[in-house]
Amino acid sequence: MPETIYDIAIIGSGPAGYTAAIRAGQYGLKTALIEKDGFLGGTCLHVGCIPTKALLFNAEIWDYLKDAKEFGIEGVDSRKLNWAAIQERKSKIVSKHAKGLEFLMRKNKVETLKGYGRLTGPAQNGVLTVELTGSDSKSNQIKTKNVILATGSEARMLPGLEPNDRILTNIEILGLKEIPKSLVIVGAGAVGVEFASIFRSFDSEVTILEMLPRLVPVEDEDVSKELARVFRRRGITFHTGAKVEKIDNMKAGIVVTFSVDGKQQKLEAEKILIAVGRKPRTDNIGLEKTHIKPDRGFIKTDSWMQTSEPGVYAIGDIVLGTPQLAHVGAMEGIVAVTKIAGKPGKPINPEHIPNCTYCHPEIGSVGLTEARAEELGYNVKIGKFPFTANSRASIVGAHEGFIKIVSDADYGEILGVHIIGPQATELIAEAVTTMEAEATVENLMWTIHAHPTLAEAMLDASNSVYGLAINA
Ligand SMILES: Cc1cc2nc3c(=O)[nH]c(=O)nc-3n(C[C@H](O)[C@H](O)[C@H](O)COP(=O)(O)OP(=O)(O)OC[C@H]3O[C@@H](n4cnc5c(N)ncnc54)[C@H](O)[C@@H]3O)c2cc1C
Repeated sequence: MPETIYDIAIIGSGPAGYTAAIRAGQYGLKTALIEKDGFLGGTCLHVGCIPTKALLFNAEIWDYLKDAKEFGIEGVDSRKLNWAAIQERKSKIVSKHAKGLEFLMRKNKVETLKGYGRLTGPAQNGVLTVELTGSDSKSNQIKTKNVILATGSEARMLPGLEPNDRILTNIEILGLKEIPKSLVIVGAGAVGVEFASIFRSFDSEVTILEMLPRLVPVEDEDVSKELARVFRRRGITFHTGAKVEKIDNMKAGIVVTFSVDGKQQKLEAEKILIAVGRKPRTDNIGLEKTHIKPDRGFIKTDSWMQTSEPGVYAIGDIVLGTPQLAHVGAMEGIVAVTKIAGKPGKPINPEHIPNCTYCHPEIGSVGLTEARAEELGYNVKIGKFPFTANSRASIVGAHEGFIKIVSDADYGEILGVHIIGPQATELIAEAVTTMEAEATVENLMWTIHAHPTLAEAMLDASNSVYGLAINA
């Protein structure tokens, strides 16, 4: 039998890797998907996007039930949380989608290979060799014309700390057997505020410690302010500008020493979640045998996801300079495969990447913040519309937040859209499409939005750029 030479071998089956594999299969390329774990789907499906959003949905229902009387529903006063059942539902969703991925690989004739993949060096006569080490530590090699690295990331720890049953990363917190009575969260990025939201809904005492001056620091400042206001009202304590100095794991629980403006404080809690970002998993994948020189672990690529080693591409959380988000990795996978297949396509536009945080209230944003647009010298014009004035928001009983449009006064170009409030993570899709289509504020103003919908707030926000909002 002649030796198999794949068109593409993809290392890592997270959203970046599996999306690339499916698209490669659709293009009829001979494709191998290499995964070290016993299941497909990576961080996103198993310990990231999907399980957290499942828990957030439970939290949302639970919060609605707290206000049941307001909705005219009685008899739910004796409601009880069954944490084990909540966890089981979450696990079922994860397994269903992991099986779905196996089906999609078969459907698209992608060969899945279990084992740890490593590059062995530059291509010989246009063919790269990937070493594949199985769980029995036995290695073999596969040959391929192209490699896509999609090895993902893992939680960063604070120096000197190891995760255990009290000091948690996203992995341990998702497997908790009980809801903690008190929880400290270090880091107020998306992961931190989502877990804060979940466990506060389930009545944990939650305190967030954030080193930067505000919650969700990558978002527009107005969004951070609104989140802070609602979190305060929800009883979530937070300290910004807080530097964690020490975490002691005592018999009775965790003691965290931190300082704000040089003033030292101590906090006690049952558990602590470290959510200070994610480091790329590129340490042991053979980069040293190639021309790829990682930058703090991240891999530099061109806009078609090609690395400095011919025939080797990188996608997903390991890529330098693009946000560590599942949908970014997935699109990078499509971009890389499109390039390899020689099909028409286009690179990612970093200004058109939606950023969603699924805490309560939700956040969805795209493009430039007001501050960044000012910095870049645009003639900035803002439109802002509060959900208090939207009839659907009244119907669903969720009045917090607003839609803010950052536009350029000269041509009506939409530079950024920032939403905090009900269904913000769904509503942002309209803004992304609008910006991708290079439509203007005026185009949005003339787009008929169905009534009554939360999306009408987008129409009002666009009108408010010119002081013409109808409903406020
Ligand atoms: C708690 C949490 C919530 C999140 N929520 C969201 C969200 O709502 N929306 C969003 O867009 N993003 C979210 N993210 C981020 C998202 O999970 C990541 O951006 C995404 O998983 C990255 O995809 P990836 O394919 O690059 O890597 P990963 O998903 O990390 O997958 C990498 C895969 O590669 C495998 N692998 C690694 N090395 C090797 C090797 N040498 N050989 C073989 N296999 C290997 C790993 O086992 C893994 O399966 C969240 C992250 C966390 C932690």
